Amino acid sequence: MNSASTRTSPPASAGERPSDVIAIRGLAKTYGTGATQVGAVNGIDLTVRSGELLLIMGPSGSGKTTLLLMLGALLRPTAGTIRVRRSDGTELDLTHAPEKRLPQVRAHTFGFIFQDYALLDALSAEENVAMACNIAGRTGRGARERARTLLERVGLGHRASARPSRMSGGEQQRVAVARALANDPLVILADEPTANLDAARGRDLARLLRSLADEDGRAVVIVSHDDRLREVADRVLWLEDGLLKELAAMVIDPVCGMAVERTGPHVDLDGGPWWFCSEACAAEFRAHPSRYPRRG
Ligand code: ADP
Ligand code: MG
Repeated sequence: MNSASTRTSPPASAGERPSDVIAIRGLAKTYGTGATQVGAVNGIDLTVRSGELLLIMGPSGSGKTTLLLMLGALLRPTAGTIRVRRSDGTELDLTHAPEKRLPQVRAHTFGFIFQDYALLDALSAEENVAMACNIAGRTGRGARERARTLLERVGLGHRASARPSRMSGGEQQRVAVARALANDPLVILADEPTANLDAARGRDLARLLRSLADEDGRAVVIVSHDDRLREVADRVLWLEDGLLKELAAMVIDPVCGMAVERTGPHVDLDGGPWWFCSEACAAEFRAHPSRYPRRG
C-alpha cells in the first residue's frame, strides 16, 4: 500500500462524520492556458455522505461534468483535494494518488452513469453488465450470474439477451445502472442521466437511483439541469460559474428560470420582491408581469 496516498482514518477534518464518504476541499479545474484559459470549477468545498442522493444543478457550461469527472478520478484537478473513505475504513486522497493506482480506485469505488448510456451495441444487455463485472474482478459464470442478478434488480431480467439498440432509452439507462453496480460501488456518479428520457421514464429512473441510496446505502451524486430530479434528492446544490451554492437559499428568476441569490436586480410587486439574474430579465418582467405567476 502506498503510505503517501493512503492512511487509516481518522483523522478526519473538523465537522466530518463517519458517514462522510467524500470530502472535497478547494477543488478547481482550469482548462487551457493564457488567453484561452477557462476556469470550469473555481474552488469547491463539498462533503458527500453514504446513503444520500445529492443533486447538483446548474446551467449548461457551469462545470457540472468537470466536477463529476474529477470526483470519479477520471480528470485531474488543477487544485484542491478529494478524499474518499473506502469500505475498509481507509482514506485515499484522489488528487495525490499516483496515476497507476487510479484504475483500481475507480474499479472499487465508483459506478458511472452517462447521459447517452454508453453501452456497447455489439453485446447483449447481460454481456454489457458482465463485462463490467470482469473489470471488477469477476470472471466466467460468476460474472454472468451477477450480471443477471443486477438486471433483475433494475427490472430487466427478461431483457438480458437484448441488444441495446433494440431497447427503449429507459431500458438502456437501466442497463447502464446495472452496469454501474457491477463493482458494488460506494458512490454512484450520474451525468444528466434523465436527459434523453420522457417524463414517465425519467421519473422511473429517478426512483431507481433513489433506491440505490435507500436500499444499498450508496452515495448517489447526480449532476443535471433536470428539475424532475429534485423530487428524489436529499440535497440540491446549485453550480454556477464553477461555484456551489445552496439552492434553498436561492429563488427562481421567473423569466429565465435560473436560480438566483436575493442580491441582484429585483422588482417590488404583489407584496414582495421578485429577484432576477440580470437587468434584462427584470425589464422583461416589468413589461409583462402577468406572464409570470409566482413559483414556490
Ligand atoms: P456542464 O457539464 O455544466 O455543461 P462542463 O463541465 O462541461 O459544464 O464545462 C464547464 C466549462 O469548461 C465550459 O466553459 C466548457 O466550455 C469548458 N470545458 C469543458 N471541457 C473542456 C475541455 N476539455 N477543454 C476546454 N474547455 C472545456
Ligand atoms: Mg455536462
